[in-house]
Amino acid sequence: MSEMQTYVEDILNLIKKRDPDQIEFQNTVKEVLTSIVPFLEKNPQYKAQKLLERIVEPERVISFRVAWEDDKGEIQVNRGYRVQMNSAIGPYKGGLRFHPSVNLSILKFLAFEQVFKNSLTSLPIGGGKGGSDFDPKGKSDNEVMRFCQAFMTELYRHIGPHVDVPAGDIGVGGREIGYLFGQYKRIRDAYDSAVLTGKGLTYGGSLARTEATGYGLLYFVKNMLDAKNISLKDKTVVISGAGNVAIYAIQKAQEFGAKVVTCSDSNGYIYDPNGIDFVTVKRIKEVDRGRIYEYENVHPTAEYHEGCRGVWDVKCDIALPCATQSEIDLESAKRLVANGCKVVGEGANMPSTLEAIDYFLKNNVLFAPAKAANAGGVAVSALEMSQNSERLHWTFEEVDNKLKDIMKNIYLNAKKNAEEFGDPDNLVMGANIAGFKKVAEAMTAQGLV
Ligand code: NDP
Repeated sequence: MSEMQTYVEDILNLIKKRDPDQIEFQNTVKEVLTSIVPFLEKNPQYKAQKLLERIVEPERVISFRVAWEDDKGEIQVNRGYRVQMNSAIGPYKGGLRFHPSVNLSILKFLAFEQVFKNSLTSLPIGGGKGGSDFDPKGKSDNEVMRFCQAFMTELYRHIGPHVDVPAGDIGVGGREIGYLFGQYKRIRDAYDSAVLTGKGLTYGGSLARTEATGYGLLYFVKNMLDAKNISLKDKTVVISGAGNVAIYAIQKAQEFGAKVVTCSDSNGYIYDPNGIDFVTVKRIKEVDRGRIYEYENVHPTAEYHEGCRGVWDVKCDIALPCATQSEIDLESAKRLVANGCKVVGEGANMPSTLEAIDYFLKNNVLFAPAKAANAGGVAVSALEMSQNSERLHWTFEEVDNKLKDIMKNIYLNAKKNAEEFGDPDNLVMGANIAGFKKVAEAMTAQGLV
């Protein structure tokens, strides 16, 4: 083992010893740190500065009680969190997740990823993440509003346009951001537009923010394929999820001429041999807040299958996981490759396990890692902050063009670093090194903070 490999092992052991239960966090730290060893070898000053010890420790973790009243008048208690991971290059920025699975390990993993993702966008934003174990599914609008108000009644002390700027994630969409913003404004008695992103268009939101993560994913994948002279046209694409990221990934993939045959939610998946009808999915999920099996009622030629994992058994050229973490394990990766899948683009955060990523890379699958491929959402969030500061509103086309440029630059930056460190198609390594470099330089420049 080289000196830097030993250094990275020591850090992995340190975080395991400190928080043995935080498996998701340990996995993401392992993914990032093991892949940047070649960079650390060329930059030994970071070991002397104990930079890895510092970067794996959040600057601040806030945990709080959220008590609210349901429609029956009963008091409910949830846990709220905000992990403020790193502010070296800008105010903390990252989404809020409302899902029963939310815990500190998941939020630390997401916040850690966010630090390097935000760095890759080239925009001045640090990394954070937050959320609650509250489940918005099956709750009335009023219950969601009361929960959001209770959540913000504590969170407001810790955020601000120059401090920490949350956005949406799983379970937090336009409706939730609206309620959160309203409560923040009421408590602060100030119209700080840039305190949250993903806002509605009538009160400071940016055009193209809703579409940004899904569109950005396809822009990234297209750049990666163009470099290999591969066209998206007529390729069969399997997509998981039916939420914000998945919906707009389906739309953009179809605009590029690909045929998307699946989408899913946590109960099961739809296979439509005629190509998924984006408008139906959008209506079911965004308007009716329904379940994906309802798709079959509108398109009887489509098949609904119970269980979301089966989606990876469907034969495809390209797989775009857009639901949640660890949805592609080694077994699913093997089935995808055996069925001829040549390209994987991660729309969700860490949807492939470490073993699955390793298998894809070893089997020459073109692999677009999450922190690069899904950075379009946070990039447009940063553009929303710029518009709020300017008190101006850019057109859809202006924002979309900036998004295209940002995704292209992220691809080129990841590719350049992959080449420079001797593994030209390994964009996992390339993106991690590119993201890490900037944060490490900024931390060094700011002294011991
Ligand atoms: P949404 O809540 O809009 O949609 C999530 C989708 O994934 C739903 O279809 C949901 O199904 C499904 N899903 C959630 N949890 C699970 C699970 N445990 N097993 C199977 N399916 C599940 O979230 P987003 O589309 O915003 O986010 C999806 C992913 O993309 C997440 O990993 C998120 O962190 C990541 N991401 C999102 C960004 C954004 O801008 N929104 C930006 C960058 C990354 P169900 O309705 O049944 O729960």
